[in-house]
Amino acid sequence: RARSERVRGPVFFSPERDEQAQHRHALEVELHRALEQDQLHLCYQPQYRLSDGVLVGVETLLRWRHPRLGPVSPAEFIPLLEDTGLIHPVGDWVLRTACAQMARWRQEGLTGVDLAVNLSPEQFRHPRLLARIQQILEETGMAEERLELEVTESLLIENPPDVLRNLQVLRGMGITMALDDFGTGYSALSYLQDFPIDVLKLDRSLTDGLERNLARSPGLIRGVIELAQSLGMAVVAEGIESNAQLQFLQSLACERGQGFGLERPRPPEAIPALAGAAPPGGAF
Ligand code: C2E
Ligand code: MG
Ligand code: MG
Ligand code: MG
Repeated sequence: RARSERVRGPVFFSPERDEQAQHRHALEVELHRALEQDQLHLCYQPQYRLSDGVLVGVETLLRWRHPRLGPVSPAEFIPLLEDTGLIHPVGDWVLRTACAQMARWRQEGLTGVDLAVNLSPEQFRHPRLLARIQQILEETGMAEERLELEVTESLLIENPPDVLRNLQVLRGMGITMALDDFGTGYSALSYLQDFPIDVLKLDRSLTDGLERNLARSPGLIRGVIELAQSLGMAVVAEGIESNAQLQFLQSLACERGQGFGLERPRPPEAIPALAGAAPPGGAF
């Protein structure tokens, strides 16, 4: 019953057998419309230096607000973009829009902030990846040194020579390469040694475990941070929600952090004011 109450259109959440497949298909139709009607937009989650609470970066996060369904989670629509190949034009749009936003922020006096952008494995594997990125940086006047690209472990697992080469080229351009969601999937520590990665992003499930599984998590996180640092990588903790988490990460000299307890993803116009504001969280 909750189901039929929720639904206006006939297709979503259909109670029939292939409910999931139908939902997916319907969402895909809606997604095409979303692109035509500019329903996608970006928000930016602040990243802070944990030693003093200074805003040092923002992570670009894609948002889809459907006129009828409201916000649709990226966890739901990004896989669809990937399966349909739409991730390429949309991914280009994300990078171009975020880089153009950086130029606008700079005009407003915001400096010293890096821009992080997520890349799907599909995007990373595209044969014209490097050319596309180069073109967008040129078009927008974005400084390579200010750009951080986030990739996930699944990309490294396949380990084709192209992946390694592209990582090296991007890094050679001055772009920072970050490994996202570390601690969720396979997390072979050897990746950290085998691939040219500058930044390790600790997945929220690890940070979260600080609260929920106090017996094991602190040691695990400490070990990962020490290892990353010994390999010359900086560590960004995701999903910081409490002061206890923040203080623990500070005690481990974790360089950077983001999380709802510090600042939620915000629309672009909210970012410049955050740079001058007092640091969030009671523990700075
Ligand atoms: P991600 O790259 O790991 O991004 C961090 C996610 O954690 C974001 O979810 C963010 O809103 C959420 N988050 C941040 N702090 C907290 C916290 O303290 N608590 C909790 N519970 N969550 C927190 P979001 O925006 O829903 O994005 C989900 C995933 O979708 C991203 O995970 C990323 O993998 C993907 N994604 C988002 N935007 C893009 C994009 O432009 N391109 C690509 N390829 N993937 C994207
Ligand atoms: Mg990310
Ligand atoms: Mg992540
Ligand atoms: Mg992720």
